[in-house]
Amino acid sequence: MKFGTKLIHNGNEIDEETGALSIPIYQASTFHQRDIDNFGKYDYSRSGNPTREALEDTIAQLENGHRGFAFSSGMAATSSVLSIFSAGDHIVICEDVYGGTYRITTKVLSRFNIEFTFVDASKLENIRSAIKENTKAIFLETPSNPLLKITDLKGAISVAKEKDIIVIVDNTFMSPYLQRPLELGADIVVHSATKFIGGHSDVVGGLAVAKTKELADRIYIIQNSFGAILGPQDCWLLLRGIKTLKIRLDAHQATALKLATWLQEKEQVEKVYYPGLEGHIGKDIHFSQASGAGAVLSFKFKTLEQTKYFLNNIENAAFAVSLGGVETIVSYPAKMSHAAIPREEREALGVSDTLIRVSVGLEEYEDIIESFEKAII
Ligand SMILES: *Cc1c(COP(=O)(O)O)cnc(C)c1O
Repeated sequence: MKFGTKLIHNGNEIDEETGALSIPIYQASTFHQRDIDNFGKYDYSRSGNPTREALEDTIAQLENGHRGFAFSSGMAATSSVLSIFSAGDHIVICEDVYGGTYRITTKVLSRFNIEFTFVDASKLENIRSAIKENTKAIFLETPSNPLLKITDLKGAISVAKEKDIIVIVDNTFMSPYLQRPLELGADIVVHSATKFIGGHSDVVGGLAVAKTKELADRIYIIQNSFGAILGPQDCWLLLRGIKTLKIRLDAHQATALKLATWLQEKEQVEKVYYPGLEGHIGKDIHFSQASGAGAVLSFKFKTLEQTKYFLNNIENAAFAVSLGGVETIVSYPAKMSHAAIPREEREALGVSDTLIRVSVGLEEYEDIIESFEKAII
């Protein structure tokens, strides 16, 4: 079955009890047991809920894994997955990882003596040389945020497999439609479902998928113990969002490529970062592991004045954090996602004061261009 069809027909599209063409929102915390000797499948919604299970099964199928898990946010998914490790374990992680992931590793998990080494993962030898005796996992994000740097997933996976190291991939920017790390040999995928999977800027949620039963059992213990589960209403919103994932992303990225190409021609623009553009570093590697460039691009203006004018005057777009919604979202990493990083360090990472990130929405291309044209001086 092709991916777009699987989004609609995956065994979770019809309610078995009633035939309803939408999984009901099982808004229940607990479940009546009819027989003292034979308890039913569900007992308490932290441990399992039918609406959540439909979502968890759907994402497991889409990522081609053994089992899926739904969490109360992308960070709850990432934090829960990282909690399968123990004091004394070491994890290699990409240096331009999502800010929240940077925070949980450096401010929280480090207190539990889980050690992290941050590397520029776009160079395989950096990953290889960071591996130590006690390295238990490699945590990757590709394309990265906000400069869309590409990590060679197959290369990193083969480095990890030599040493029995678990590979975890944050697949938020691509979604399972464009990139399926488990099929390339990764072990765990995490998502901020808040972004493309939800797709409508109306729900915060996280998903994780494990490739094997052994890893799934370890994550389930954390999900049930930690309890950072996603509520049934939000699970339903994600189930609904998933049905249009392909058609949304097809439209998002077609416009993103046109916008990136257009921006490249503007004399006020110094540089455009988008994996779909010729000359983007790692483009060939990206297209060997993903089927599209996605809908997020970044660009740098030549001056701070141009940057400020653009952000204050751009129309038909939200000026906000987050991405993946139906609306174009323009964000300013220096004061948003990367505000906590000291300026010098931030500039060294390439996140200058003139960098703008765009999550290209579903508005008509001509209108987006008109709005951009008016805001560029
Ligand atoms: C947004 C985001 C997260 C965090 O997800 P939340 O749902 O906001 O907790 C993690 N990784 C990436 C790549 C993200 O964009």
